Amino acid sequence: MKLLADEEEKIMIVKEYNVLGTTIQLSVYDSDDETAINEALERLSQIDDRMSAFKNTSFISKINNNAGGLMQEVSEDVYYVIDKAVHYAKLSEGAFDPTIRPLVNLWGVFTNHAWVPEKYEIEEKLRLVNYKDIVLDKSNYAVKLKHRNQCIDLGAIAKGYAADEVKRIFLNHNIKSAIIDLGGNIYALGNKLDGSSFNIGIQDPMGFEGESIGIVSVRDKSIVTSGNYERYFEKDGKRYHHIINPRTGYPDENGIISVTVISNLSIDGDGLTTCGYIMGLKQGFKLIEDLEGVEAIFITKDKKIYITSNLMNNFQLINSEYTLVL
Ligand code: AMP
Ligand code: MG
Repeated sequence: MKLLADEEEKIMIVKEYNVLGTTIQLSVYDSDDETAINEALERLSQIDDRMSAFKNTSFISKINNNAGGLMQEVSEDVYYVIDKAVHYAKLSEGAFDPTIRPLVNLWGVFTNHAWVPEKYEIEEKLRLVNYKDIVLDKSNYAVKLKHRNQCIDLGAIAKGYAADEVKRIFLNHNIKSAIIDLGGNIYALGNKLDGSSFNIGIQDPMGFEGESIGIVSVRDKSIVTSGNYERYFEKDGKRYHHIINPRTGYPDENGIISVTVISNLSIDGDGLTTCGYIMGLKQGFKLIEDLEGVEAIFITKDKKIYITSNLMNNFQLINSEYTLVL
């Protein structure tokens, strides 16, 4: 996903930064005060330090290391994100599952030695995956996993929360026009300086990075995409991507190659893209269509595009290789 080129010119400040396992870009249009961006960058590092499963001292690692043991106290924000993750796990009946981590590790999704595991290994790890084993104690902001070796992974939702936090900080600093781009998770704050909406290009899942299949015009909206092109490896001509079906233990193969969700809160968009991706066109699309204030674009392997009804007037197809299914 990206902001279209003609709109990049009037930026007053733009900063790039590596955090949350990705390259992020914050662009502010109506202020040259750097304190807001600096505060946002600090907050992003804090979120990373608290929520990353890769950092030994994060609250998530503490929960994971204590699995099967005592309740682990966490910060209020970590509690909020875990609680949201459990909400989406329930809503998707386990298609989204924040305890997927043992499988993510087994597949080596984030390493440069990703491989196809043996079936018995997958079955062994699958037994550890069950969001119902997350025990939540809201009054003490404490969390635990019921069984040893279970592990939480907030990779499918934490970036959405982070975008919401950057937006909050920008608004506190009176910024009213900005693009918050957290590695493809975009939040369009306000509108362009001329009063018109931001035009956001939706990534062509089969094209090069930055090539769009279509455009949506938005203001004060989050636009998040989950796609099979984001992280993957190929083995014997087959692509294995980073979104794993908790029922099978394999990267999902239901014909979907990308799901984009447009919503007010980015944490909701991020949760729902992963739900939609795994639940597929039939169930996932319906789930989102039935939710209020949330729109979606599903793209399938056979180059068909499905959009929810309120997007009909706000989606412009620009790649003729794809067909918009109405
Ligand atoms: P996203 O790009 O938002 O769909 O998130 C994908 C990331 O979430 C992966 O890199 C994994 O860390 C994690 N993940 C993979 N499969 C699932 C799943 N079924 N439910 C929840 N998180 C998942
Ligand atoms: Mg997601």
